[in-house]
Amino acid sequence: MGQSRDAFFIGNQWVPPASDRRFELINASTEEVIGTVPEAVEADIDAAVAAARKAFEGSGWSDAKPAERASAMQRFAEAIARRSDEIAHMVSIQNGMPLSISQMLEGQAPVDVVKYYSGLAQSLEQDDIRDTPMGKAAHVEKSPIGVAAAIVPWNFPVTLALSKIAPAMIAGCTMVIKPSPGTVLDSYILAEAALEADLPPGVLNWVAADRDAGAYLVSHPDVDKVAFTGSTAAGRMIARTCGELLRPVTLELGGKSAAILLEDADIDIFMDNILFTSLLHSGQTCFNGTRVLAPKKRHAEIVEALVASVEALQIGDALDPATQLGPLASRAQRQKVEDYIAIGKDEGRLVTGGGRPRNTERGWFVEPTVITDLHNSDRIAQEEIFGPVLAVIAYEGEEEAIRIANDSPFGLGGSVWSADTGRATSVAQKIQSGTVGVNGYQPLLGAPFGGIKASGLGREFGPETVTAYQNVKSIYMIG
Ligand code: NAD
Repeated sequence: MGQSRDAFFIGNQWVPPASDRRFELINASTEEVIGTVPEAVEADIDAAVAAARKAFEGSGWSDAKPAERASAMQRFAEAIARRSDEIAHMVSIQNGMPLSISQMLEGQAPVDVVKYYSGLAQSLEQDDIRDTPMGKAAHVEKSPIGVAAAIVPWNFPVTLALSKIAPAMIAGCTMVIKPSPGTVLDSYILAEAALEADLPPGVLNWVAADRDAGAYLVSHPDVDKVAFTGSTAAGRMIARTCGELLRPVTLELGGKSAAILLEDADIDIFMDNILFTSLLHSGQTCFNGTRVLAPKKRHAEIVEALVASVEALQIGDALDPATQLGPLASRAQRQKVEDYIAIGKDEGRLVTGGGRPRNTERGWFVEPTVITDLHNSDRIAQEEIFGPVLAVIAYEGEEEAIRIANDSPFGLGGSVWSADTGRATSVAQKIQSGTVGVNGYQPLLGAPFGGIKASGLGREFGPETVTAYQNVKSIYMIG
């Protein structure tokens, strides 16, 4: 079959799998099988962890100066850049992300992420000798934490892998990366880039596996740190394991963010941005502002504009350059979203969407859907749907908008829209969330991204992330 693979990437070698178990990769737009790849079992995970351990202890990678690692990372970034189109194409076929979006967010963004972290090398090389209030100096030294396990979801498989790989690499860690079963083929392209960049064997190892083998990786005795992106339910299980082992863990989990339109908001600006801030990747983006908070006075006008905007979005095959909304990533994901739409129809009033678009007999498509007349306590306002479903909630006054926005188990994203940037910023400051956008939303590389409450622990995309891959040691200069 065209895209099939027969090995794992372990220690810079293509290593045959220990079992004959395989994952089938399916084109989300056509439901056709794209190819198959080996599925890792415990023996494969053991081999990958052993290669990463050997590289950590024996390759000189962890002892090298950050500048040396940075130059390897630059080569890696260039090798990824040469494959950006291929990566974007592969992601779009597997998970249905429109090509126009995957080119930016899965083809180009990973290159930027690797370059950004390699650019931090100089700051990592500076000696940190501190005067303490006790009158004695302390050397504060940072060393790589060891072998890191990265567990990656299917929605942004490449960028979310690199958001872990790049800070781990600059810190001097080695890694085992576990892609999600639905999006594996892109990881082979990254492995080819690693090979071309001539990274030391064992620094990066890829083994696609399901939950059970993933759980085995998390608890593996030779893993020193876990970085996970995925659902809150899986995050809690991983956190439990890491808690028991006292193993450092970062968790980027789910969200149900609020997009707050203040009374003076320019509705057209919000509508122009809606694809990126509330419906990105057909709603399968953790930070999407899927709760739209509308002032009572403008509720009808906002609902009308929302209906017009989402009905105008171009739905189609992910590989069609004109497509703005692709299919959902899997049959199971579509079922979950349709179940939520049924709940939403009971809880509120469906004003557009709710079904499968016409002319899409194949592919896991769902119409962009708007449901209003909801209370924030309704299930479709509280739970993460991970589909193109917007819950519109009316509020009276800024205080109530803030209260509703904060009345959520999650705290990942959010946005505030107003003609007065100062006013929007002051509302943004009151939102309980790891990130908030003013008159737009876009994670900005260099600024920490992550969640509070059930949205996770730790941050990615900022310089702070590097410390999650380091041990810190103080040497007290007593005499
Ligand atoms: P998921 O939790 O089902 O799976 C994520 C990854 O974890 C997969 O590779 C899966 O195989 C693995 N996994 C699942 N259970 C595991 C376990 N017990 N031990 C080890 N590995 C395990 O999530 P998903 O459906 O792939 O992704 C969608 C979810 O991810 C959504 O909830 C979304 O909000 C969240 N997400 C969060 C962010 C963020 O940065 N906060 C970004 C993207 C997606």
